[in-house]
Amino acid sequence: MKDPTPLQYPGSANNNEHPWSAIIQGSFYTFPYGKKETRTVKVGRVLFRSNSVIGRGPMVMQVTCVCKGSSRCDWCGKKLALKLSCPSKTRASEKAFMDKCKEKATGEHAWVLNHLPEIYYSFDIEFSAESPQAQLKEIFRDEYEMRVVRGIILEELHPLSTLKTERECAQVFYDIVQCHHWAWKYPQILHRDISEGNIMVREKNGQKYGVLNDWDLASWLSTQNEVSTSKFRTGTKPYMAHEQHSSKWQGPHRFRHDLESLFYVILLLVSLYSSPTEKVRFPSTGDHRYEKWHQQDDGVLLGQKGNIVRAGDWQPVPQPFFSGFTLWLAALQKNLRRGIFNLENHKHAVLAASQPLKPGRRPPQVPFFDEDTLGGYFSYEKVVMIMHWFNQEELKTWGQEWQVTLEEAFSEDWESEASEESY
Ligand SMILES: [Zn+2]
Repeated sequence: MKDPTPLQYPGSANNNEHPWSAIIQGSFYTFPYGKKETRTVKVGRVLFRSNSVIGRGPMVMQVTCVCKGSSRCDWCGKKLALKLSCPSKTRASEKAFMDKCKEKATGEHAWVLNHLPEIYYSFDIEFSAESPQAQLKEIFRDEYEMRVVRGIILEELHPLSTLKTERECAQVFYDIVQCHHWAWKYPQILHRDISEGNIMVREKNGQKYGVLNDWDLASWLSTQNEVSTSKFRTGTKPYMAHEQHSSKWQGPHRFRHDLESLFYVILLLVSLYSSPTEKVRFPSTGDHRYEKWHQQDDGVLLGQKGNIVRAGDWQPVPQPFFSGFTLWLAALQKNLRRGIFNLENHKHAVLAASQPLKPGRRPPQVPFFDEDTLGGYFSYEKVVMIMHWFNQEELKTWGQEWQVTLEEAFSEDWESEASEESY
């Protein structure tokens, strides 16, 4: 990656600025475009720089196209973001996943495009030992050597902190479930990294849409069982499913792990923020629940999340702004708890069945247990049933498929109530 100007240091960053902004704001990036061309963008604010992610560390910055005079390209005038990451050379680009989604998102599936990032361009730059890449080396440190620098140019999206009301937050989270399910079912892609930073907002024609962003840890479902053990644990620590913190966990990563991650995203947001923009200042002496999850190691998180998902009397305590989330969180936890309980019973049964038998005894039969949905307790259906209502109002369900499922479930309820009354 060429850097036609030396780094500029546009004075000290104000408090809202990401510290990296001061270092790279105002610099230019030139990168290959197609086989012969290059394109140059000017860097604006740094929007995101991850700090607690395993195996990579993307950085996202605002960029603008620098076409001059009469030369105009299809990026001119667009609000763009450049994401730089440092994946291993063999990892599929998120553009490949999104291209597959676009291919499937036609007709009655077109709604999902509102919930997926719009990626305009993706490029990889391989390193050679001689190339002067000091700036990138500084950003990526040790990860730099064995990997490529991957850049994608995408439409700029807005963070959760731009939401104004509790209901907007609820709709965005429900959108994420619908989008995640669609990607799993149709293009058969598992996202695998649900975190607060990967849930973004798109504003279009006065409507806000939840966007499931950042698909660079995603995988094809067809390879779900093939990944080597070292790659099982993906995700962002405070939001990883509880069992993924265990050294005994053998994978595979299932969709219900992502749904559990979404539970933690909601839990942390509504517990630690007094509004989407405002983090609660807890007394520095206290050890407020969840507040330290960003710094804690796997052992601690396994214990703390395990306590939540197993507790029979668990009650969420959201900040007043987010009080509507009490019902969601309680219902999600109840389903998760029942599912985990049944999963553990199932594991005991499998273990018992593997013990040596006394002569003449037949081996016990272990009934099938659906580990994808925790025996049906933590399925997409259960989560959609919980999340399509918020504060006694129906949220928007985008796909025909779920609209039909919900109508049927509702009319069955209504019929059973009506028949009870007639007795
Ligand atoms: Zn341009």
